[in-house]
Amino acid sequence: MLKWEAKRLSEATTCYLGLGANLPFAGKSPDQSVIAAIDVLAKMVFDDVRRSPLYVTTSVPDTGQPDFVNCVLVGETQLSVSDLLTACQKVEAQFGRERQARWSARTLDIDILSYGDAVVPADGTWSALSADAADGAVMAPLAVPHLSLHERAFVLVPLVDVAPSWRHPVLNKTSVELLQALPKADRASVRPFSAENA
Ligand code: ADP
Ligand code: MG
Repeated sequence: MLKWEAKRLSEATTCYLGLGANLPFAGKSPDQSVIAAIDVLAKMVFDDVRRSPLYVTTSVPDTGQPDFVNCVLVGETQLSVSDLLTACQKVEAQFGRERQARWSARTLDIDILSYGDAVVPADGTWSALSADAADGAVMAPLAVPHLSLHERAFVLVPLVDVAPSWRHPVLNKTSVELLQALPKADRASVRPFSAENA
């Protein structure tokens, strides 16, 4: 896996990744998979990386599947955004991810939350895209910032930990402002992880 050699750009870009897992894989619990995947990403993708604490969240929508462990990374990468997506998918596969229906339980999900100030697609249609419209699609075209970032407390709570002043390049709100706009019940559903509440 680490032999994968993507082109390195001359400039590094600050990017944010969201990780989530709610199924065990190869003897690892979801929290162990998330931590192990961060080690792989640190070598494969980042010049420099920091992580939020881990959180536990009831699955959204609440389909009765196991709780998710979630975490956000902030790092500097010399990969292009499309190579970054390829790298995330390679690491997902390494941790047993099978691409099934959206929202399904997974051993590891890695989403690109943002990449510098990039807006993808860059033709002004980002705002017209809807995360719901992609429901049921296993393959959806890359959208950055991630289309659901601003609606998900399990992304925004750890994002605020690592980057309270990060500003959404389309919505022009900080991560703190986006989190405050969510219903209190959503925010309360994101609990600090500890081995006891896993
Ligand atoms: P989700 O994370 O929304 O539950 P998946 O991980 O199964 O769904 O991803 C579905 C599709 O979303 C993939 O084909 C991927 O290419 C696409 N996608 C679009 N934008 C992004 C992004 N910012 N980060 C990760 N995947 C994305
Ligand atoms: Mg994903």
